[in-house]
Amino acid sequence: MFKTILVPIDIGNATESNNTIKIAAANGNADARIILLNVVEEIPKWAMVEMPEGIQEKSFKTSKEGLQKIADGCDVKTEVEVRVGHPYHTILEVAQETGAELIVIASHQPGLQDYLLGSTAAKVVRHAHCSVLVVR
Ligand code: ADP
Repeated sequence: MFKTILVPIDIGNATESNNTIKIAAANGNADARIILLNVVEEIPKWAMVEMPEGIQEKSFKTSKEGLQKIADGCDVKTEVEVRVGHPYHTILEVAQETGAELIVIASHQPGLQDYLLGSTAAKVVRHAHCSVLVVR
């Protein structure tokens, strides 16, 4: 049983999140810390000039609200964390930072079952320093 579990959530694929969170809780202690993490893709500075002002802040806010909604909608007590960065890199960074002992991650986007592992999931499995549970 694990004490600190990180659950990266892709807000765009919220339908499967509940199941992933339940699996995380089933692998945790009764008082396990379960951290839901969404990473908002960082918009490169060169691209930012072409975009409406405040777009990064707006997508951060939308993600925070979306993730909070997922957290509120599940029966598990969770913490919510939103970061701006590159998904796989930031997932590993937050895992180290929080001392996560387990990462529970979905294998790919729904509808892409033909693929063994999505690109973010594959990199997390390959480079994480802690255990990783891939949900299929
Ligand atoms: P695909 O390549 O099919 O899109 P991914 O590897 O990107 O698959 O997604 C698999 C899982 O990785 C998602 O369900 C989620 O758990 C995690 N993930 C992907 N992108 C993000 C993100 N921006 N923030 C947090 N988790 C993410």
